Amino acid sequence: MPTQLKHCEMKPSYINNVGTLVLIVIGAPGSGKGTQCEKVASYLRIPHISTGNMLRKQNAQLNSRDANSMIQGELISDAAVRSLLIERISAVDCERGFILDGFPRTVNQAHLLDSYLRKAYRDEYCKVVMELIASKATVTRRLSARRICPLCNSVFRNANAESLTVDTCPADGTTLTKRMDDREDVVLRRVQAYHDYRRPILSYYCNATFLQVEGEGHEDEVTSRILEKILAVATFQEK
Ligand code: AMP
Repeated sequence: MPTQLKHCEMKPSYINNVGTLVLIVIGAPGSGKGTQCEKVASYLRIPHISTGNMLRKQNAQLNSRDANSMIQGELISDAAVRSLLIERISAVDCERGFILDGFPRTVNQAHLLDSYLRKAYRDEYCKVVMELIASKATVTRRLSARRICPLCNSVFRNANAESLTVDTCPADGTTLTKRMDDREDVVLRRVQAYHDYRRPILSYYCNATFLQVEGEGHEDEVTSRILEKILAVATFQEK
């Protein structure tokens, strides 16, 4: 049985015996995926890979159709996201596994990931699919409190999803703005997109280990819940 974790007791050095873990995190916009993936990744010492972040950084290289889909909160083509993802998970820092945030979003993408994992890791990894759940009120509060730096892409949020006390980026002094797809009408489309792909993705992974985690509350408490659940189900392979 895993040790009971309290967020105040957790130190990044606590979890240092994990082997190869492929953690696929899904959740509606504002459920806390980005924040939690980042924190869990630092505890497990594996990379957090967000296709949304990668696409925002490489936006200039997208064709106009995909760039427009991003602005509108719709999924971009599988082709555009496929090469980005495979290149990233082939990097040496992914040898002990990785956390996927925002991928796969289609069954096609899930097939692609599986065939890569079969080739790269054979059966020597532990795959966990996790869904973060948060109420509509929480999601709305979080998204309206979130700001980004348009220059360096850093994300700013309050741990309790309250309004921020800073309005410029501490690294470069740029005025913080809302993410282009955090506008209310676009958020509605992103939430709809999530509900559209959730069911096919979960059916695809019906034989995988599946966890649902309550994403409400202080972000450290949510991290603690996630780590407890992961450590309870994952049989990590030592490398
Ligand atoms: P996110 O930051 O995960 O909310 O993603 C922001 C936007 O990037 C989404 O609304 C999509 O337009 C695009 N995107 C990110 N990941 C994918 C994916 N796996 N497949 C298709 N589009 C994606």
